[in-house]
Amino acid sequence: LLPMGLLVSTLLVGLVIWVSRQRLSPEKELAIAIRKREFVVHYQPIIDLSNGRCVAAEALLRWRRPDGRWIGPDLFIPLAEETGLISPLTDLLIERVIEDQAALLRADRDLHISINISARDLESGRFLPVLTEAVTRSGVAPSQIWIEATEQGFIRAEIAAGAVEAARAAGHMVAIDDFGTGYSSLSLLQGLPLDALKIDKSFVEAIATDAATSVVTPHIIDMAHGLKLRIIAEGVETREQEAYLRAAGVRLAQGWLYSHALPASEFATFHQDRKVQ
Ligand code: C2E
Ligand code: CA
Ligand code: CA
Ligand code: CA
Repeated sequence: LLPMGLLVSTLLVGLVIWVSRQRLSPEKELAIAIRKREFVVHYQPIIDLSNGRCVAAEALLRWRRPDGRWIGPDLFIPLAEETGLISPLTDLLIERVIEDQAALLRADRDLHISINISARDLESGRFLPVLTEAVTRSGVAPSQIWIEATEQGFIRAEIAAGAVEAARAAGHMVAIDDFGTGYSSLSLLQGLPLDALKIDKSFVEAIATDAATSVVTPHIIDMAHGLKLRIIAEGVETREQEAYLRAAGVRLAQGWLYSHALPASEFATFHQDRKVQ
């Protein structure tokens, strides 16, 4: 009888643990993961089309679960934005980027790293003192950290303009991300003191196809030139797209044609190889 009772209670305890695990909401899980710092940053090289050199990288967050599974940002960033967890996540991102890249950035003052800042970060403005502290402490020039924000981030125009001005006053470059995929692109561009524009990969994909979007791509490029913005094309996958972009006067490109996002050490090697070329 005793072993039987032991078995039952063991099963019961097991069941309670199992149920409580199942009940852990995605929000709770994400909060715990942030506290446990289960995030790493991968770096996707950005290439200067005029000489093929690697001049920058975009920092892209990845969640590495204790069980070894990787979770992409498309799954956890929206949740982080909805729940307000984006703020501690952005702090963690800044910390990791500086930790990973400070030495390389100090060694190559022409190199920059782009970080993604959410609409909510822009509104709260909290990321900026965190970034300023990290940059100052590590001896990186503020101009070596660029900020990417989507149109979503600029919808509440006055707040956004203030945030962009503050970031630029602190020495950072600010880029509008995924340009063309939001709503009020054109009116936004006029009112904001931006440095760069990232052409969304859907417009790059359309190059040299008969998709309706392909008509828009040259206009985006012309307009960005007219506004004296630097242009970065994202999602470049073919030589044909590259040739088109280069001919259109686009200077910077990023995409699988050059490299996927790489762990910090592999990015350092990539940068080294592409530096001397
Ligand atoms: P995004 O800012 O548009 O980042 C570019 C995404 O396109 C990345 O996906 C990248 O891996 C992917 N990509 C790059 N080159 C190519 C290509 O040639 N072809 C194709 N088909 N895809 C390409 P990823 O890393 O899954 O990131 C997805 C999104 O998650 C990002 O889109 C960004 O909006 C968000 N995100 C990533 N890291 C952060 C972060 O640290 N903070 C915030 N707030 N958002 C982040
Ligand atoms: Ca981006
Ligand atoms: Ca983008
Ligand atoms: Ca995009």
